[in-house]
Amino acid sequence: MTWQIVLLGPPGAGKGTHAKILSDRYRIPHISTGDILRSQIQQETSLGKHAKSFIDNGKLVPDELVVEMMKTRLQDPDVRHGFILDGFPRTVEQARALDEILSIKKMPLSLVLEFDTSEDVIVDRLSGRWSCSNCGANYHVRNIPPAKEGICDRCGQPLVQRKDDEPETVRERLRVYRDQTAPLIEFYEKRKLLRVVSGDLDVGPLQEELAQSMKCL
Ligand code: AMP
Repeated sequence: MTWQIVLLGPPGAGKGTHAKILSDRYRIPHISTGDILRSQIQQETSLGKHAKSFIDNGKLVPDELVVEMMKTRLQDPDVRHGFILDGFPRTVEQARALDEILSIKKMPLSLVLEFDTSEDVIVDRLSGRWSCSNCGANYHVRNIPPAKEGICDRCGQPLVQRKDDEPETVRERLRVYRDQTAPLIEFYEKRKLLRVVSGDLDVGPLQEELAQSMKCL
């Protein structure tokens, strides 16, 4: 049996943190479109150059670019036993494109986990978030501090604050989420793929909830 899972939720809901834990536990790749795009920016590829201003301003990178990028990523051999998608799809058009890609691969989605998260929690998490400049692991000054200040526990590289975590950009990202991504909740509800978990919970209790949801698969 293979698991094809989508994590859906606003920025700061904890998708990245939980995707990494689930990926280690179930040995399936964590595919984050945000991480791929940031790596493209770092490598100064043409996709990275194109995507940068959208990301810096809290907007979505155009569908056709992201869909093409994911078409390529989902052909990699490591997705044979399933995957956890974090940050994709983010629009109904992307969700339709994903359906098409997966129907050709004969790997339909198993589950969409929606991280239902309140705005106060989001703002607190994003303002205290530090991310690894190398592997993308996320930390929080209070909730998930690294063992050594400013250094990633996983790979030893320096931690940085993301430019798009600045308050004004966060507000724009939340607006974009409500307008363009939240309609996916109904999209997946209609397909009976949606399970809601509480994104407000701390890491341990939310992992419990996720484990319960995944048991039903
Ligand atoms: P994230 O790390 O998931 O918060 O993504 C950071 C930024 O990357 C987003 O604010 C968007 O600008 C861009 N991005 C990530 N995933 C997508 C996507 N599926 N579609 C469009 N833009 C995306």
